[in-house]
Amino acid sequence: MTTIGIDVGGTSVRAGVVDHRGTVLDTARGSTPVGETELEDVICALVDELRDRHPITAIGLAVAGFVADDRRTVRFAPHLPWRDAPVADRITARTGLPVVLEHDANAAGVAEHRFGALRGAHVGLLIALGTGIGAALLLDGEVFRGAYGVAPELGHLRVVPNGRRCSCGKAGCWERYCSGTALAATAIGLLGRHRGQSTILAREAKRDPGGITGRLVAAAARDGDPVARLALQELAKWLGEGLALVADIYDPELVVLGGGVSESAPLFLDSAREHYQRIATGAGHRPVARIRTAHRGDSAGLVGAAALAAHS
Ligand SMILES: [Zn+2]
Repeated sequence: MTTIGIDVGGTSVRAGVVDHRGTVLDTARGSTPVGETELEDVICALVDELRDRHPITAIGLAVAGFVADDRRTVRFAPHLPWRDAPVADRITARTGLPVVLEHDANAAGVAEHRFGALRGAHVGLLIALGTGIGAALLLDGEVFRGAYGVAPELGHLRVVPNGRRCSCGKAGCWERYCSGTALAATAIGLLGRHRGQSTILAREAKRDPGGITGRLVAAAARDGDPVARLALQELAKWLGEGLALVADIYDPELVVLGGGVSESAPLFLDSAREHYQRIATGAGHRPVARIRTAHRGDSAGLVGAAALAAHS
């Protein structure tokens, strides 16, 4: 039995045909348009393209936004046009296939639990470090959504009092210190104070001051740039700090780090782990969560959505 998983993000819509082992057999993609009808047109076109080549029994959509409890309506998605939109029913009406919706981080968590790094965890947490921070809590493989479908919004835990402003309206949120965007901001701040020490980042900042991204900082750190390495050390410290907070709330046995930033884990993970283990409440007298990186990469959202569709 094969299903289609579709990751609906702010810039692109990526679809894949997925089998019961979580293997992606075929893919198709389009860019995310501005209007909601146009977005549904793109989704249906990708479904038509893939079902021409494979037998399909259901569709799962991984959405970067809040999904209602019944998983049929998108309540709000900051980078997508849907507002209280009955997306599942609309796509079913146009394709004749059952449709299930899931928050993208939850979908990725499901994929990691069924087929990847969270397998076997009773209390497992996926933390996706990308443009912001997305998180999913899996309890014996079931997604924990909270009472209103919003949990766990860990990226907006306040880790730094009076810290950097966040788009959510607060200041000092975890994702302002541990996302790819945050890594770039940290590096730019450090560059002001250590300009003489940096070769790669300083050169890049001179060429194009807006061109410093998290990815570029990670690449510069791999090439030995001291300021980029300092920026990753800062990220490691705040990651450890946030993980200790999260451990006080959920006491997970396993934390899996995903998202683009996790690809640079060799540059910061040991240090984050050490910091976390040192400051965790009851440190030295309790077991602490293991922390490892995700296995399913950026296809996790669509694989998880496809798996949920297969069991809907
Ligand atoms: Zn925030």
